[in-house]
Amino acid sequence: MKLITTLAILSIAAGPALAQRPTADQLATKKGPLSIQPVQHGSVVLTWDNKTLYVDPAGGAEAFTGLPAADLILITDIHGDHLDPKTLEGIQATKAIVVAPQAVADKLPAAFKERVVVLRNGERTDQLSISITAIPMYNLPEDSASRHTKGRGNGYVLAMGGKKIYFSGDTEDIPEMRSLQNIDVAFVCMNLPYTMDVNQAAQAVLAFKPKVVYPYHYRGQDGLSDTGAFKKTVNTANGKIDVRLRNWYPGT
Ligand code: ZN
Repeated sequence: MKLITTLAILSIAAGPALAQRPTADQLATKKGPLSIQPVQHGSVVLTWDNKTLYVDPAGGAEAFTGLPAADLILITDIHGDHLDPKTLEGIQATKAIVVAPQAVADKLPAAFKERVVVLRNGERTDQLSISITAIPMYNLPEDSASRHTKGRGNGYVLAMGGKKIYFSGDTEDIPEMRSLQNIDVAFVCMNLPYTMDVNQAAQAVLAFKPKVVYPYHYRGQDGLSDTGAFKKTVNTANGKIDVRLRNWYPGT
């Protein structure tokens, strides 16, 4: 009885989000291990060479409890599951540099606006010995009624310690994704009607052949996409791609 009470107190102290977060993966780089921490939906935290990078921190600061303070924050687009002022203000990020497209920079809380580096599609910046290139992200066909118009948001390719990491942002299987090269780890969205379906995502991944791919951002209008089907389609055609299924929706 006493033990149960102690455990109950410990689990409350740790917080449910912390307890349920998927285990971080480690990737060896020329400058030591890169820790890859899936958080939720489109939010990822990378720790490498004593630096911590948050990608699209959103959905509430509780999910980031216990993670190191952010040195760098990348934001892909203006929607609330990517740019979330409340979460930004709740996480430890008082000194973090923010890399974002102009549309996001315009909407940042004031304290973050002072520390923003604006990147347009195709541009590159080097921050804290990480090279960051903005990749287009948009819906097909390209038109002004699209949920994600070309040029507004940024996907990102990071080069760090000799490894290349890709974050798709919200996009379809656009040529700019299909023609990526030498990607070590890719995070690829798949949710309708916002981005693309699992088969489109699988075909894009088969085109650019990352060594590792994480399906992320896969909650759509009708619930979670079938990431198992994504993995099957990818691995039936190419058994070498390491498809990593993680629970990006620990609260549900
Ligand atoms: Zn989104």
